[in-house]
Amino acid sequence: MTVERALPTPEAHDLIDLTRDLIAKEVAPRVAGDESAGRFPREVFTTLGATGLLGLPYPSEYGGADQPYEVYLQVVEELAAGWLAVGLGLSVHTLSCFPVAAFGSDEQRAELLPDMVGGELLGAYCLSEPASGSDAAALTTRAVAGPDGYTVDGVKAWITHGGVADFYMLMARTGDKGARGISCLRVPSGLEGLTYGVPEHKMGMRSSPTTQVRFDSVRLPQSALVGAEGEGFRIAMAALDGGRLGIAACAVGVAQAAFDAAVAYAGERRQFGSRIIDFQGIGFMLADMATQIAAARALYLEAARLRDAGRPYGTKAAMAKLFATDMCMKVTTDAVQVLGGYGYVEDFPVERYMREAKVLQIVEGTNQIQRLVISRALTPESRR
Ligand SMILES: Cc1cc2nc3c(=O)[nH]c(=O)nc-3n(C[C@H](O)[C@H](O)[C@H](O)COP(=O)(O)OP(=O)(O)OC[C@H]3O[C@@H](n4cnc5c(N)ncnc54)[C@H](O)[C@@H]3O)c2cc1C
Repeated sequence: MTVERALPTPEAHDLIDLTRDLIAKEVAPRVAGDESAGRFPREVFTTLGATGLLGLPYPSEYGGADQPYEVYLQVVEELAAGWLAVGLGLSVHTLSCFPVAAFGSDEQRAELLPDMVGGELLGAYCLSEPASGSDAAALTTRAVAGPDGYTVDGVKAWITHGGVADFYMLMARTGDKGARGISCLRVPSGLEGLTYGVPEHKMGMRSSPTTQVRFDSVRLPQSALVGAEGEGFRIAMAALDGGRLGIAACAVGVAQAAFDAAVAYAGERRQFGSRIIDFQGIGFMLADMATQIAAARALYLEAARLRDAGRPYGTKAAMAKLFATDMCMKVTTDAVQVLGGYGYVEDFPVERYMREAKVLQIVEGTNQIQRLVISRALTPESRR
């Protein structure tokens, strides 16, 4: 079912049409095969770059498309409906460009951004470590400053695009314990001492490589520092506010795809002499799914419009991520139920959607952490 979108400009409608065309031609024919083979679709990202879709929310001055976040997110949603590894990949790439775009010097922006947002380079975001996930400020990867730059040692874990990215936006400790001792550094691939673990064997999203990224005395010039020393955690959290909206949009896309498959099936499948969509037990389930998807989409768009208006939006982004990903888990599980036994086998994509949904409740802050963010914003001191 084609989603009707109220987009702000004719250009935004063209971008959605372009995305749908790209999904039909380049994504749909290969998603099932690449997912089951665990093959990363680098060429799809090259096409996204060539068509301008890798830099949508960034300034045209640096090769981006100057699009509002609400438009960028709807492109992410469409891509995720076609293939989560691609939608989430775009979201992670956008997150990885953010530190340079928002906190980099004029020189860094001019030198680095055109290739980052123009599609030449694919990004990865390195915050998590084997022993620090939710408690990200406890990270121990260290960047020691010397006369001509930094020497980095440590291990990052769970890195999307590990081993296939062209640059890694790294959060490393340059100072004391805690959030204030962390800095943000840009690391190009191919440096001596930079190696990758074996891709994780995941429940879903198998075509998106997730690996450890290991730093063994990796040398970086002083110019690798993005923002000021000690500002890295603030940069990482600001990046995640936008990233969480990307995850919410991915969740809405996956749920929409599962819902569409369930509606199509329920309209054809007959039992007891009737179409199963005419049984109220199934029809009401589909009605709830449609309503939940619409509510999640409205929530991420509201947060995006706050961001576009330059207003605080972090709490709303956490709500959107929490609601949309829990919704996606429920909707994809119900879609499997609508298909009965056929939902549990690979002949239909709904089992994939259900496996994909689970990771969205975990990445970029688990849903427990989103509740923490939301509840902290409710305390009297935070509202003062
Ligand atoms: C496929 C995939 C891709 C990923 N991509 C990236 C990436 O590109 N870059 C990156 O940096 N990271 C990435 N991650 C890591 C992801 O962000 C972490 O897995 C996540 O933040 C949780 O950390 P953890 O796995 O260490 O779990 P833990 O932090 O150990 O949490 C374990 C459980 O305890 C709960 N918990 C922890 N603290 C609290 C608390 N205070 N209150 C209540 N409950 C709590 C959690 O919600 C969770 O249920 C990825 C993970 C996956 C699975």
